[in-house]
Amino acid sequence: MAYRPDPARYQAMPYQRCGRSGLKLPRIALGLWQNFGGSDLFENGRAMARRAFDLGITHFDLANNYGPPYGSAEETFGRILEKDLAPFRDELVISSKAGYDMWPGPYGDRGSRKYLVASLDQSLKRMGLGYVDIFYHHRPDPETPLEETMGALDFIVRSGRALYVGLSNYPPEATRAAAALLRDLGTPCLIHQPSYSLFNRWVEDGLLDTLDLEGIGCIVFSPLYQGLLTDKYLRGVPQDSRAGRNQGGTLKGKFSEAKVELARRLDVVARRRGQKLSQMALTWVLRQPAVTSALIGASRVSQIEDAVAALAAAPLTGEELAAIETILA
Ligand code: NDP
Repeated sequence: MAYRPDPARYQAMPYQRCGRSGLKLPRIALGLWQNFGGSDLFENGRAMARRAFDLGITHFDLANNYGPPYGSAEETFGRILEKDLAPFRDELVISSKAGYDMWPGPYGDRGSRKYLVASLDQSLKRMGLGYVDIFYHHRPDPETPLEETMGALDFIVRSGRALYVGLSNYPPEATRAAAALLRDLGTPCLIHQPSYSLFNRWVEDGLLDTLDLEGIGCIVFSPLYQGLLTDKYLRGVPQDSRAGRNQGGTLKGKFSEAKVELARRLDVVARRRGQKLSQMALTWVLRQPAVTSALIGASRVSQIEDAVAALAAAPLTGEELAAIETILA
């Protein structure tokens, strides 16, 4: 039977203007980095995408090399579009990126015009799309002139391959320089995608102020620190978890007993407010006025439901924020 989205899907989700643009984004977005690859269960990914859309999540975040194998998350998303979401294309904001290792040889990595344009063409093909809504340069490339990379982003918009462009993992100084180039080219930078969570606060050291000044929106990735800021690891490492599966070694160097102990103490603060730790971690990143959206990952439908439910919570009080600071100090 054809998928029919929940008619109430726009009633509860708050949407926030992305920087000084006209585009509004849901406060929670869903990323397909993990659990949508070629070796993952298609029906689970499909169920998560459908539930997300039913809950008002209009924004789905991809990249050329999400999988594994590389490219397979975009293929999965293409199948989900074909089966369920394509009739709602104009209700969706779909993003992709290039900037990390994708194919062999000198043209499948970093920031050249050659790489970015070819990679986006491949992404569009895998997803069966005519354009993406947002295309990002995935990380700064010190070897390519910034003028070339930003020129490629401008070309990508002018050629109709993307509606907006963004930067990911750029530090404040490079962000300012890139934003100035893009502005001069007439393709303003819409959005920045940095990591940010209770365990990773680098954006507080200048980036958020820069984005606010430049009028650039901000979508923060790994707000749950890949699962460590949930109740998942408080009593050991379940086999059926990212750390238990050790997917692509992505948690290497991040997982430690000291972090789990901090999570246990943060969990007490969360439960005192009637939230799960994962939900308080989202309330906490979203408290920053410069943060447009929290970009979560999920391995099952219930995690998406938990995240969206966090949006109904009361803001953190001064006392709760102080308790959190004491734990993190
Ligand atoms: P999160 O920090 O949100 O971690 C998500 C993981 O946490 C889930 O897959 C799940 O892992 C666990 N989890 C989520 N909710 C719960 C819950 N309620 N209870 C218990 N466990 C939970 O984000 P990700 O690290 O997955 O990144 C999110 C997205 O950000 C990516 O998909 C991608 O789009 C983007 N990203 C961008 C990067 C960039 O360089 N621009 C880099 C990395 C990510 P489990 O499997 O253990 O259940």
